[in-house]
Parts: sequence; structure tokens; C-alpha cells
Amino acid sequence: MNPWNELLANLAIVAITTSLWTFGHRHVARFTPRSRSAVFGGIMACGTVGAMSLPFQFHSGVLLDLRYTFLAISGLFGGPVAAAAPFIVAVASRAMSGGTGLSVALPLIFMATASGLIAHRFIRGIPDGRSISVVSLAVVFSGTAGFFIKVPFEQWPVVMPTVVAPFALLLFVSAMISSFAISQELKRQEATTLNRIYRAIIEALPDCLNAKDLKGRFIAANPATAALMSAGTAENLIGKTDFDFYPEETARAFRADEEALLRDGNPIVIEQRFTRTDSAETWLATLKAPFNDDDGEPIGIITHNREITDRKRLESELAKTQRHLADALASMADGLAMFDRKGAQVFNNARYLELFPLTADVRSTGACLRAIIRAAIERGEEMAVSGDIDNIIERSADAILRPGDRQMRLADGRWIEARTRTTEEGGSLIVFSDISTTKRTEEKFRTLNERLEVMAHTDGLTGLLNRRAFDSALDDLVSRNPQTAAGPSLLMIDVDKFKAYNDTYGHPAGDTCLKRVANRVAEIMAPYPRNVVARYGGEEIAVIIPQCDSAAAFSVARLLCAQIRTLEIAHDGSEKGRVTVSIGTATMNAAGVRSKKELLGSADEALYAAKAAGRDCVRSCDQPDDPAKARA
Ligand code: GH3
Ligand code: MG
Ligand code: MG
Repeated sequence: MNPWNELLANLAIVAITTSLWTFGHRHVARFTPRSRSAVFGGIMACGTVGAMSLPFQFHSGVLLDLRYTFLAISGLFGGPVAAAAPFIVAVASRAMSGGTGLSVALPLIFMATASGLIAHRFIRGIPDGRSISVVSLAVVFSGTAGFFIKVPFEQWPVVMPTVVAPFALLLFVSAMISSFAISQELKRQEATTLNRIYRAIIEALPDCLNAKDLKGRFIAANPATAALMSAGTAENLIGKTDFDFYPEETARAFRADEEALLRDGNPIVIEQRFTRTDSAETWLATLKAPFNDDDGEPIGIITHNREITDRKRLESELAKTQRHLADALASMADGLAMFDRKGAQVFNNARYLELFPLTADVRSTGACLRAIIRAAIERGEEMAVSGDIDNIIERSADAILRPGDRQMRLADGRWIEARTRTTEEGGSLIVFSDISTTKRTEEKFRTLNERLEVMAHTDGLTGLLNRRAFDSALDDLVSRNPQTAAGPSLLMIDVDKFKAYNDTYGHPAGDTCLKRVANRVAEIMAPYPRNVVARYGGEEIAVIIPQCDSAAAFSVARLLCAQIRTLEIAHDGSEKGRVTVSIGTATMNAAGVRSKKELLGSADEALYAAKAAGRDCVRSCDQPDDPAKARA
């Protein structure tokens, strides 16, 4: 029998074993990687046994078979777990068959196994043609090394071409064929898995993904595309075109985009607006790319759509809001400026620049507030300052950036109010308002109020305090006066025979006379501002002197009486021949006077007494009633 027959049978075993695995491995696809390797190793071990059971003994102890192929590829594709079984089987069966070549065969078995394992260790993923070739060469080396060791050198020229070379070729071919078969199967399986993953992703993708042929007919589509086009399922789309689902005008626009794409050959990104069959206006962000055959000829179009209707609506609302905001800012009566946390201006409206015309050129975006303040001072827009200018600018900038309201007066007299609020980013938003008019109105009101206040307390004719002011002053003094201390004293002054004066000289002259009397009394009491001089009513004048005992009050009254007399106002209606006054005095805590009412009553009584005593004299509720003494 031809000894090569065994080796050819070996080759058949390699082919069968490899096929066995490539057909059977999908049944163990769900196993763990380690279990799969073990199964692979088991099949390779069977192959090893098969190969070793049909050896061709070329030389005493030199057995030729294709075991090395199994040893190497089991390690190459399955790692140590897969390599273990073939290795053990090879060593055991070779050891059992014995022979002189055992010492050579065992290291070679080891070498073939190691070559596969080393390649497995360094190759990532499925081995490529180069690594398969290297491992196949290692197989060739492991299988043929025995010749060179065992066969005498003289026989090499005969053995090399007849045995070694064909055997080496057989080894190489068997290793290459089975490795390629296994790696192709692994690649196919990997591609299938990837395909399944891609399909799952595309199916679950919320975006629309589809492919059309050159005529615009769908050849593939995902469910999202079917949903967008209200087509039910993706299968319903196959073979149809946009014209089957969209209004003619929309479909024609879509088709025009695709034809342009096919002409130019470059992918396009467009935003498409259309009305769906349910009349809803829809926006799509669309990417269209041609796909070509192996010769680079376009065979279809891939389309990816994302619905952006919501985004478009938000964009349009945002644009509208921004327009409104810009309009509002532009037409605001107040100036608005925003500064970042470092004091750099980041935003302003037009009114802000109008408010500060001398420094409008400096107040631009990016300008530093300190530089703005410096320019405002130097150009005379802000009030002139004295002292350390850097320090003033620093403090001024700090104050304006801090939240709160402050008012400042510009050199041209305008008043500006700056209201500062902190922004979310830590900057400052400042609203500048021209409050000059408000300030002027405020000022006017204050003056008016003061005047009204005076008017409310002043007697129109004499300019003295009026009765109301008198009452409140008296209430105040009486309530504050301790029970034991002297005063206040009240002087009740009445013009004598005034009715007759009016009758003689006329009412206007009576008024003038009354004014002169009042002025004189006020003049005399003026050095003591705490004294109260008021028109009590008619031609009666009341004077309150705080902390004044009855004797002092009496003296003052006499002085007043004398002073009026010395005015020398002619009064023909009076027996005195001139205008005179009578005065009654009373003092708190004197002569049993304890209350305001008693004080007023006593003063009135004293006045009555002075009148009774002949007028032009003073009477007191507790002073001697001596007319000589009383008359000034
Ligand atoms: P006597 O006090 O000395 O007893 O006499 P008399 O004439 O002053 O008496 P009486 O108090 O009754 O008269 C006060 C007069 O003063 C009556 C009124 O015509 C006059 N009179 C009161 N108020 C005013 C005023 O504002 N202007 C003028 N011209 N006369 C006034
Ligand atoms: Mg009177
Ligand atoms: Mg009188």
C-alpha cells in the first residue's frame, strides 16, 4: 500500500474534524467561553487520536501524521483550555507506541502546542492570515524536525525531495486550511452577532433610518420610519415611495433633495418641514447619504431623520421672547447695565448710554466699572471729588456692585438712582433711573409742607402763633412741668378799649394797630426762644414763659405794658389818649393753680381785675393788688 495513503487519510481527518466543529459549534454558542474552548479541545483531541491512529512510519521510530496541525490550532483558537486535551492525548498515545523516536517526538508535540498557545496569547480577536501562516510554519517545523535529527546526513539529499518536502507541504496545507476554515466560521459568527446587534439597535432607534433605491423606493426601514410615515409596520414601506405617504408637493420636494444628492454624491444635512397626513406640521433634521456598490456606483440612498418639531417650536418661542425682551429693553425708560463678578460690563441697553452722555463711549461691553467711574470723574460727569481718587473709585465701584439702592447726583444737577441686584452668576444687574423730576417734586413738597406746617400754626394777621399752637404748647408745658417746680407762667394781654379804636379809626386801622402791638410783644419776648407768643383771640395776646415764677412773670408783664404804652399809638376813644393794654398773669403751682384750666381761669380773672383797676396795668392772681406797684 502506498505509505502516503495514511497521510492523505490524515488530511481527510483534519478536514472532517474541522467541518465537525464549524457545523457543530453554533450549538454550543450559548456556552461560556471556557466551556466552548473545552468542547473545541475535545473535538481537536478526537482529531489528534484519529490522525495518530493512521501514521506513516517513515523510519524506525519516526512516525508521520498530522497531529501537529490539531495541537497547534487547538491552542491558537481555543487557548490553554482547548489545547490541554489534544496535548495529553498526543503525549499519551505517542508514549504508548514507544519506539526510538519518543525522545524526539515529545518535545515536538510540545513545540506544536506551544506555537498555537503563544500565537493565541498575543493575537487579539480572530487570527488573521499572517498569524495563521506563522503558526502553520511552526507546525511544519514541529512535524519535520524529527527527520533532521533521526535521518543520517548522507540520506538527506534522497529524503528531502521525496519525503520531507511533500510532508512539509501537507502539514502546511492542512494547518492553513483548517485554520482558515475555523477563522472564517468565527468571522461569520461574529458578523452574524454584530448584524443582530445592529438590527436590534436600528429597530429600537427612536430616529428614523431607512434605505431607498435609486428610484426612491424603500428597500429597508426601521419601525420609527414607519411610525413617522403612519405606515403601520416597516414592511409596509418596502417597495413604496414617499409619494405613497406624503402629499404630492411634499414628496416631490423630498425627491428633489434625493436627486440633488445623487447628482453631487456628497452627504447632505437638511432641515425639512412638511405637513403630515394627520395635518400636523412637522420638522425633521435629515441626513441623506448615497451608498455605492463595490465599483463606487451609487445604488441607493440612506436617510436618517430626527423629528425636531418640539425643538423648532422652542426655538421660535425663544426667538420671539428674545425679540420682545430686546424691544422692552430698547424702549425702557430706565438704563440697564449688567456687570460680571469682576466688574466687567457684559450688557447694557441704549437708555443707559443716554443717561451718561459724557462717558457713553467708555460704557461698552467688556469695559471695567472702575475705568468707567474714573472717566466719569475726569470728564466732569460725576460730582468733583477730593482725596485719594483711587480709593474713592474703588469704594464707589464696590458700592454700586453690591445689592441695594443708592442715589447719586451728577455734576449737571441730575439725580440718578442705581438699584443693584445680584445675578445667578454672581454678577450685578443695575437699573439706572433719572429721578431728577421726582427729586424736584419731593423738594417742592417738602417746602410746601413746611409752609403749611407754619401756616397751620400761625395767625394770619399778626404772624404770631395761633390759638391751636398756643393750646398745644400750653398742654405740652403743663404736662412736662413737675408739680413742685415754678412755672410756666401765662400772661393774658388785652388791648384796652379796642372796640372804640375800631369805631374811631376803622377796622383796617384796628388791624394795623393790632399788628404793631403783636410785633412789639413778639420783639420783647424774642430773646427767649422757648417763650410762646400767640394770638389768643380777637385783640387778646397770650404769652407763656416756661419755668418762670409769678414775680418774674409779673415783672415781664409790667415791662410789656410799658412798652405798648411807649408805642404812642393815638387812641382818642380811650381816656389814656393812646393805645394801652391790660395784662393778667397766672403761674402754675402758685396760688393754688394746678391745672391748665385753672391757669387759664386765673389769668383771665387777673386780666379782668386789671381792667377793673382802670386798665393799662397788670394784675396777678397772687401778687399784691397795688395799682401803684402794678403800673409800670
Ligand atoms: P375793654 O377790653 O377795654 O373792656 O374794651 P374793648 O372795647 O376792647 O372790649 P371788647 O373786648 O368787648 O371788644 C373787643 C373788640 O375788638 C371787638 C372787635 O370789634 C375788636 N376786634 C376783635 N378782633 C379784631 C380784629 O381782628 N381786628 C379789628 N380791627 N378789631 C378786632
Ligand atoms: Mg377783649
Ligand atoms: Mg379789649
